[in-house]
Amino acid sequence: VRRRLVIGNWKMNGSKAENQQLLSDLVKLQNTAASGEEAAELAVCAPFPYLQQVADILKDSAIGWGGQDASEHASGAYTGEVSVAMLAEFGCAWAIVGHSERRAYHGESSDVVARKAAAAIAGGITPVVCVGETQAEREAGNTLQVISSQLEPVLALGADAVAKMVLAYEPVWAIGTGLTASPEQAQEVHAHIRGLLVQAGAPEQRILYGGSVKAANAASLFAKEDIDGALVGGASLVATDFQGIASA
Ligand code: 13P
Repeated sequence: VRRRLVIGNWKMNGSKAENQQLLSDLVKLQNTAASGEEAAELAVCAPFPYLQQVADILKDSAIGWGGQDASEHASGAYTGEVSVAMLAEFGCAWAIVGHSERRAYHGESSDVVARKAAAAIAGGITPVVCVGETQAEREAGNTLQVISSQLEPVLALGADAVAKMVLAYEPVWAIGTGLTASPEQAQEVHAHIRGLLVQAGAPEQRILYGGSVKAANAASLFAKEDIDGALVGGASLVATDFQGIASA
């Protein structure tokens, strides 16, 4: 059985004061929520400058944390980049790689994303590898083909590497728009990804859904066979909403 995983992606939001409130509320809610193997595994991916603060507040909790990106390079002249080793030093267990906002606004190709995933794994951090089609690609009937091609260099890293990843399906048209993919639409893509994972020799990797996930729609998504959790943007900034998704 795949344990449910719910990861908050704060994106470029937060402040020291807001983070303090959000995280202490989350820890309190977690302490009263169901625990054990049936409970969802939880993590938050915060902006880099706040990782020490997040670590300080979450270190004795069951909630993990991570970065929203990681460099493919180990160190050196890469202004603005943050390495996997740096993330590890701040206790990160996770790093999102290949989020559609990075692909769209920072020109990240699927090859770069695969190299970032490989770097994360080599540094002992679990990459959350994001894929997803645009509205135009869906309307053209190309969704599954787009997903396959985004995943190709990632799955080519080999079974041992893929067995250390989490994948996330985030349709671009559903991100921050309030338009969630229906559970059926999402499951169709998740089943396709599952097939690719089977071929890659890592059939049991978790596949998260992301795109306007809320407490109100999470249960119907999680009911689908290949939806193993969620990558949550907006709703992860409100402790009760995030916890509501975790316990859906
Ligand atoms: P929203 O939940 O705000 O739609 O964002 C989804 C997302 O991009 C998470 O990575």
